[in-house]
Amino acid sequence: MAFEGLTERLQSAMTKLRRKPKVTEADLKETMREIRLALLEADVNFAVVKDFVKQVRERAAGTDVLTGLNPAQQIVKIVDEELTKTMGSEAVPLNKSEKIPTIIMMTGLQGAGKTTTAGKLALKLKNEENARPMFIAADVYRPAAIDQLETVAKSIDVPVFQLGTDVDPVEIVRQGLVVAKENHNDYVIIDTAGRLQIDEKLMNELVEIQTLSQPDEILLVVDAMTGQNAVETADGFNNQLNLTGVVLTKLDGDTRGGAALSIRAVTGKPIKFVGQGEKMTDLDVFHPDRMSSRILG
Ligand code: GDP
Repeated sequence: MAFEGLTERLQSAMTKLRRKPKVTEADLKETMREIRLALLEADVNFAVVKDFVKQVRERAAGTDVLTGLNPAQQIVKIVDEELTKTMGSEAVPLNKSEKIPTIIMMTGLQGAGKTTTAGKLALKLKNEENARPMFIAADVYRPAAIDQLETVAKSIDVPVFQLGTDVDPVEIVRQGLVVAKENHNDYVIIDTAGRLQIDEKLMNELVEIQTLSQPDEILLVVDAMTGQNAVETADGFNNQLNLTGVVLTKLDGDTRGGAALSIRAVTGKPIKFVGQGEKMTDLDVFHPDRMSSRILG
C-alpha cells in the first residue's frame, strides 16, 4: 500500500506523544527526530525534509503546544498543515486556452505511464466536459508506441493523428494541429517520445515541439514508485521545458512517498493529477490536503 511505512512511523511518533501526561521540550525534540527519520526513510528529498522539520518546529515553538491542552493533537494538526503546504496547498486545475484547441503536451520517461495517462486525461475531459479531444502520435522511435496509443484511443473513442514512424515528430505535430483546427477539436493531446533516461536529443526534440505548438499545458508524467529518481527526472525536464504540471502515476502501488512529497518543493511545479491504477478511469485531480490526510492515516 502507498505510504504504508511513512504512515506507520508518523502514527507511532504521535501515539508516543499522546501517551505522555505532560509533553516536555525533550519529548518534542524526540518527536521531531522521529518525523525527520520517517520522511527520510520514505525517500523524501533531504532539503525538503530539513525545511519541513524547521517549519514544524518553529510553529510548535510559537504556539502553546507544550502548555496547552492536547499537545499531540496540536502537533498532528501542524504536521498535517505543513505536509499540505509542502505538496502545494491547493489543487491546481488544467490550463485552458481561450480559443480552441487547448494544447496539452505529455512528456516523461519511458514506462512512466505517459500514454496511459494521455488516455485517462482524454476520457476525463470527455466525461466531465463533453470534450472532443484528439491525440497526436509524436513518438516515432518505437512502432509499438503508436500501436499502444491507437489501442488506448480506440478504447475511449478518441481520434489519433499519426504519420507512422518515418516522419519527423515536429512535422507530425505541425500537421496534426492543422487537422485538429479543421475538425474543431477542443483539446489536442500530444504524446511525445520517452527514453529510459533524459538525453540531449530527446530534450532538443521536446523543446522544438514546445516551440512549434506553444502548449497551454506541458505535463510531465512520473512514476511515483521511483522515489527520488522521479524527483531528479522532474528537475531535469523542468530545467529545459516550460513544465506547467506533473502527473504522478502508480500511486496504487507501494510507493514510499518521496516523490509525492518532494516534487512540488524541488521543482516549484504543481502535481495536477495522480494515476491510481491501470484502468482508463483511474486518474484523479491531486488535492494536497487529501493526500496529507491519506499519509497521516
Ligand atoms: P509510457 O512509456 O510512459 O507511455 O508508459 P505507459 O503508458 O505505456 O505505461 C507503462 C505501464 O505502467 C503500463 O503497463 C501501464 O498500464 C502502467 N501504468 C500507468 N499508469 C499507472 C498507474 O497509475 N497505476 C498502475 N498500477 N499502473 C500504471
